[in-house]
Amino acid sequence: MAAVTLTNVVKRFGTFEVVHGANIDIADGEFVVFVGPSGCGKSTLLRMIAGLEDISGGEIAIGGKLVNDVEPADRGIAMVFQSYALYPHMTVEQNLSFGLRMNGNPKADTDRRVKRAAEILCIEELMQRRPKQLSGGQRQRVAIGRAIVREPQVFLFDEPLSNLDAELRVQMRVEISRLHKELGVTMVYVTHDQTEAMTLADRIVVLKAGNVEQIGAPLDLYDDPANRFVAGFIGSPK
Ligand code: ADP
Ligand code: MG
Repeated sequence: MAAVTLTNVVKRFGTFEVVHGANIDIADGEFVVFVGPSGCGKSTLLRMIAGLEDISGGEIAIGGKLVNDVEPADRGIAMVFQSYALYPHMTVEQNLSFGLRMNGNPKADTDRRVKRAAEILCIEELMQRRPKQLSGGQRQRVAIGRAIVREPQVFLFDEPLSNLDAELRVQMRVEISRLHKELGVTMVYVTHDQTEAMTLADRIVVLKAGNVEQIGAPLDLYDDPANRFVAGFIGSPK
């Protein structure tokens, strides 16, 4: 089970409060998208779920366990960022296996996981290339592959498609949806792009200046926005 629960979560940087008591329940296996304008606190929330950022108040639990009580390696989460941050001097295969090798994972199991990730992402032909010999979309696949090999229960995505051109963004959206169906794991996905949110999400969390404005299925937000901000952001005529 990897439900993710945020209860009255507050974040301050010094005296500056950027998240003001967020309550968000994400079910096991659900695809939830955090959407909102730049600076509204999306990345900060995701980083707190990942345990990369201290929580100033409230609680975050993954699979019923408080994030801060669990060692980072045992949290069962993997994060995909906007910048791919692949190792330029390593092949795709080495990029995929690096983290597992560093953790002393047995070779046979590492090979199995890398092979499976390559199959899922259709990058089997690219395994001996280096990052500079890949297109933007192929690099982003490898970055997602590095998350897959960790076999996490929760995937966290922070604007993973922002650096791609429009056509590739659409293609990768389809791939990420397929990945969600195939793996059946919980996904929390941050974007400022409402089209991405509407097409990917089981439920959308709309954020504005550190406040949760509304949580709901895409069509429910569209049909029944809680306020003008949500309506404007989702593109609802209301
Ligand atoms: P988003 O991802 O929605 O664009 P962020 O979560 O990155 O927003 O940032 C939310 C707010 O917190 C912004 O006002 C940002 O300037 C501020 N912030 C983020 N990280 C830090 C930090 N390390 N120190 C101080 N302020 C920060
Ligand atoms: Mg951000």
